[in-house]
Amino acid sequence: MSNSEKYVPSAREQAFLDQVESPRYERMSINGLKPFIEGRVSDEVQDFYSNDELDVLSQLQGTERDVEARMPVKMTRHYFDLAQKSRPIRDLVKATPEETENLVGSEDPGHQMDYSPVEGLLHKYEMGLMYVVSTCSAHCRFCYREELISRKEIERQDGTVAKKGMAQVGDVTDYMRHHNKIVADNGGRHPETGREKLREILLSGGDPMVLSNAKIAIWLGALAEAGVEAIRIGTKEMAFFPDRFDDTFLSMMDLFHETWPHVSVRMMIHFNHPDEFLLMDDDGNYVEEDTGVLKWQPAAQRAMEGVVSRGWLRVENQSPIIRGVNNDPDALRIMQRALKRVGAENHYFFCGRDIIAHKAFNVPIEEAWRILNESQKGLSGVEAHARLSITHYKGKTEVVAVTEGPIPGVEGTEDGVVIFKLIRSAAGAEERGKICIVRRNPDAIWFDGYDDRVIVDEAGLFNYGRLEAPSSLEPSVHELEDAH
Ligand code: SF4
Repeated sequence: MSNSEKYVPSAREQAFLDQVESPRYERMSINGLKPFIEGRVSDEVQDFYSNDELDVLSQLQGTERDVEARMPVKMTRHYFDLAQKSRPIRDLVKATPEETENLVGSEDPGHQMDYSPVEGLLHKYEMGLMYVVSTCSAHCRFCYREELISRKEIERQDGTVAKKGMAQVGDVTDYMRHHNKIVADNGGRHPETGREKLREILLSGGDPMVLSNAKIAIWLGALAEAGVEAIRIGTKEMAFFPDRFDDTFLSMMDLFHETWPHVSVRMMIHFNHPDEFLLMDDDGNYVEEDTGVLKWQPAAQRAMEGVVSRGWLRVENQSPIIRGVNNDPDALRIMQRALKRVGAENHYFFCGRDIIAHKAFNVPIEEAWRILNESQKGLSGVEAHARLSITHYKGKTEVVAVTEGPIPGVEGTEDGVVIFKLIRSAAGAEERGKICIVRRNPDAIWFDGYDDRVIVDEAGLFNYGRLEAPSSLEPSVHELEDAH
C-alpha cells in the first residue's frame, strides 16, 4: 500500500486545511483538435484553424506524425483572446504538421528518471522536483514535459517501462524525512551520495495551479511539516488564466505564511513573451500610461500585484527561447524590463531541451545566446539578471559567452568559441563553476553539435555516462516502507 493512503496531517496542518476556501474556476478551455474538426466551437474560435489546416492535421491522426499523440492540444479562452492580437501567442498553442516532421529527440530529456528515488519526485542537488499533476490550463507546443502530459511510457534506469507517475504526499514526505535524518546523523552529508539536506521543493507537473486551493494547501502543509525550508511553485497560469490568482488563493497563501513563516515561497512563473501580459491596442501596439511605462492587461496586473504585494511571496520568471515565439531580442528586452518594474525577477532563459521533435522549436545555442545578449543591451544591471541556461544531463549549465574572434594561439578557434559553465551538477555541489570551451558551430541546437569541437572540458560535459542503476540513488520507496 502506498504511504499516501496512510498519510495523516498533523494538527497544525489540519487547522490550516480547515480554513482553505476552494472555489471552482471556469477557464473555458478547448481540449483537443476534435472540437475544431467536428465544428463544435463558436465561429470565432473555429477560425483559429483554417479548413485546410484541419484537413492536414486530421490526415495525420493515428499515424506516427499525429500531433496530438506527441502533445495534446489545449487552450483557455483567455489565451485564445490574447492570440487574436498576437502571432507569437497563437503559435505557442497552435498545432502544426511541421512539429512532427522530424521526431528525433529524447523521451526522457535530461535523463530525469535517473534521479527519481520515489515515484513523482526527482531528487537533484539539495532540491527536489515533484510532478503533482499532468496537465496545464493550456499546452505549449514546445513543452519539455510532453512525455508527462501526453502520458507516454518511458524507459526507466532499471530497464522497466512505465508512465511517469504523480508524487504522493505520504511517499514523498517519508522519503524526505528519511533522507534528512541520515544527513543530519552524518554531520550534514549523506554517507553514500554526499548530498545535503533536501531543503527545497519545486511543485511542478503540468501546472500545480490547475489543482484546487485545497490540494495545493495539502502539499504546502505536508512539505512544511516535513522540514522543507523553501517551496517553489512552477506555473504558467499567470499567462493562461490569471484570474486563478484570486483572493481565495492569496488568502490561502497568507495563512500558510502565518503558520510556517520560516518557509519561503516562490512563484516560478513562465511568461514567454510580453504579449502575454501587456495591453495592446487594436493594431497590436502596446498601450502606454501617461508616464510612458507600458500598461498591463487588467487580469494579469491584478494577478501580479496580488502576489508581489505580499513581499514574502517572490516571483521569478523563466522562459525558453523558442523559434517563432520569442526568438526576438526586442520582445525579450520589453519583457525583462516590464517584469522587473513590477517586482518580478528575470531568472533564467533556456535553450530548448532535446525533447522529441525539438528541431521544430529549438533555436541554435549560439543564436539563443545572441538573442538574449542583444535583448539585454540597454537594460539596467538589475533588469538584466537573467542568464541563458541549457540543461545538460549532468546538470544546469550556463551558456556564458560566444566569441566572434579566435583565442590567440589556440588552433581551430578562428571562428570563435562557446564557453559553457556548469552551474550545478545533479550529483553534488563541488563541480559548480567548472567550464567547457568548444569551437563554434552556429547550427548546434544541442551539445552533440559540439562533439568533435571540444577544446577544454573541465566540467566533463562531453564524457558523460548515464548513471549506473545500483546504489548511486537513495533508498527506493520499498526500502523506505521497510524502514517504518
Ligand atoms: S506550461 Fe509548462 S508544463 Fe505546461 S505545457 Fe507549457 S511548458 Fe509544458
